[in-house]
Amino acid sequence: MDTVIEFENVTYNYPLTDKPTVKNLNCKLEKGKFYGVIGENGSGKTTFCLLIRGFAPSFYQGELKGEVLINGKPTVEYKTGELSLKIGYVFQNPFNQISGVKETVFEEIAFGLENFGIPVDEIEKRVIEVMESTKISHIAEKNPFELSGGQQQRVALASVLVLKPDILVIDEPTSQLDPEGTESVFEIIAKLKESKKTVILVEHKIDLIAEYADEIIVLEKGEMIRFGDKQEILSDISLIEHGVQLPQMAILGNELMKQGIPLDYIPVTEKQAEK
Ligand code: ADP
Repeated sequence: MDTVIEFENVTYNYPLTDKPTVKNLNCKLEKGKFYGVIGENGSGKTTFCLLIRGFAPSFYQGELKGEVLINGKPTVEYKTGELSLKIGYVFQNPFNQISGVKETVFEEIAFGLENFGIPVDEIEKRVIEVMESTKISHIAEKNPFELSGGQQQRVALASVLVLKPDILVIDEPTSQLDPEGTESVFEIIAKLKESKKTVILVEHKIDLIAEYADEIIVLEKGEMIRFGDKQEILSDISLIEHGVQLPQMAILGNELMKQGIPLDYIPVTEKQAEK
């Protein structure tokens, strides 16, 4: 087992709050796996993501107890900027990602690389490659602020992927998008699944989590109430009482079992149900 991210008894308080937002988190995330983070609004999903990236406590200045380790080293011991090459972070709202200082999509994506002193021809090659894989080559010369939400989120993803991080933290990438935009973003996420990257994805659309995640983390009021195999967790009907939305297929499967219809296992995706 190759642990890349580890939470050791992590409790985190935002400044000026009297109780912690996340409490006693313990988990080890393995290299190359795809983790889905679920739980109702306010359960601490974004805070969990910010802790991995080291933004909490650095940017948010809260109080951290315990340790979040990336490749065995606490996030607080990394130098400024060091984690941005290791961990790509995609925000809920692409507006937070786009620098606002570049006039074209091409320049926007190249911007991150320029900050790391990478040679110009290498930058160009990498930007062209990532624009192809995220299907935005045709908008290379457009202003990032004149794009649709789906296009902006793909630019945000491209500007993170171009840095070739081993770990990707993606916080509800489709919350601001229409179905078409959502689909275009999930085409990219499907490709990440094939890469060797470690992915942490927060997403409300539970069918997408069911399709892509290997393992699930369930948060409730800042506590990690479940962590483990997707099949086991997403078919557990008792989680509904904890504010967790389950896939329709799992609800149906549970209902059939209750009525005495035997199933080999409870499906959590439509693909499984078809079998
Ligand atoms: P989720 O992503 O599951 O909706 P969050 O991690 O965004 O949960 O937030 C959990 C709780 O943490 C929120 O209900 C809020 O009370 C608190 N919180 C989030 N951000 C801040 C902040 N910057 N300052 C103070 N409290 C915050």
